[in-house]
Amino acid sequence: MIPSTFDYHRAASVDEALELLQQHSGDAQILAGGHSLLPSMKLRLSSPSLLIDIGGLAEFGDIGDHSGGVTIGAGATHHGIESSALIQERAPLLAQAAATIGDPQVRNRGTIGGSLAHADPAADYPAALLALEAELIVRRSGGERTIAASDFFVDLFMTGLEEDELIVAVNIPAPKSNTGACYLKFSHPASRFAVCGCAVSITVEGGKCSDVRIGFTGLANAAFRDTGVEDALRGGAVDEASVATAAAKAAAGQELLSDSFAGEDYRQQLARVYAKRAILAAVAAV
Ligand code: FAD
Repeated sequence: MIPSTFDYHRAASVDEALELLQQHSGDAQILAGGHSLLPSMKLRLSSPSLLIDIGGLAEFGDIGDHSGGVTIGAGATHHGIESSALIQERAPLLAQAAATIGDPQVRNRGTIGGSLAHADPAADYPAALLALEAELIVRRSGGERTIAASDFFVDLFMTGLEEDELIVAVNIPAPKSNTGACYLKFSHPASRFAVCGCAVSITVEGGKCSDVRIGFTGLANAAFRDTGVEDALRGGAVDEASVATAAAKAAAGQELLSDSFAGEDYRQQLARVYAKRAILAAVAAV
């Protein structure tokens, strides 16, 4: 439970953090809320020689307008996201997901940037970002690029981020009309992480589904879009029977995780049940 020794630097700006990250590429780690990194260091799963603390960069957590959608600074805490009036209005699905994370201590310290970079397979945000078609803005010393959420979550604790890159913001497009959304989660009773988390954004016109995006987390090595369920819903009615038929395809063809708490069959069944519940709740929210 004792980490190996490390140096600590509190960054005064994003540029300074990026310069240090480049100079010490491979040896340095960014410290945001510390709620994933510090436990990993104590277990010696991670042994950086330098911690670059970005926790004190106030503007790094700003939440604001983005062409009718929302831009969220990577340093925004889970509590800041859960309680933001702008996010509740324009991306309520994300506020719902943030509200389910851990406990109040975790939500007051943990950040969206830290959660996304860590890419725990049971983290809540990835499913929500997939359903919302979010984009991540990442920066390295001297350059910035945009990564679609659908390209970001690569594998177990693996993302599209390079070693010297920092997530600086998450952009969520403006909500479409006639669209409802919902995030529902079956939590692990001890950790509160998702055993199955299902995020749905659905557009309903004339009683039929004209567009839908479904993201799952907790089920596999990385969060994924469930195109099988989406295809089964698109163009059809959104009554309970049709939704149940579509939801029965949930997680089909995915290599599911299995552990002492939830085996593959159990996770498969959770996926079906939570897909049905989340789709119906999203339809009710249109
Ligand atoms: P840190 O721990 O500081 O950093 C995590 C990793 O991300 C490090 O590798 C760090 O270098 C890197 N990093 C940090 N910020 C950036 C950035 N801007 N750009 C690039 N890399 C960066 N999560 C859930 O989703 N659902 C839960 O139910 C849940 N329950 C939890 C319960 C407990 C008891 C604990 C301790 C954690 C739980 N978490 C849960 C994880 C929590 O959400 C963490 O806050 C989050 O995973 C990491 O965010 P952080 O700001 O603490 O990042």
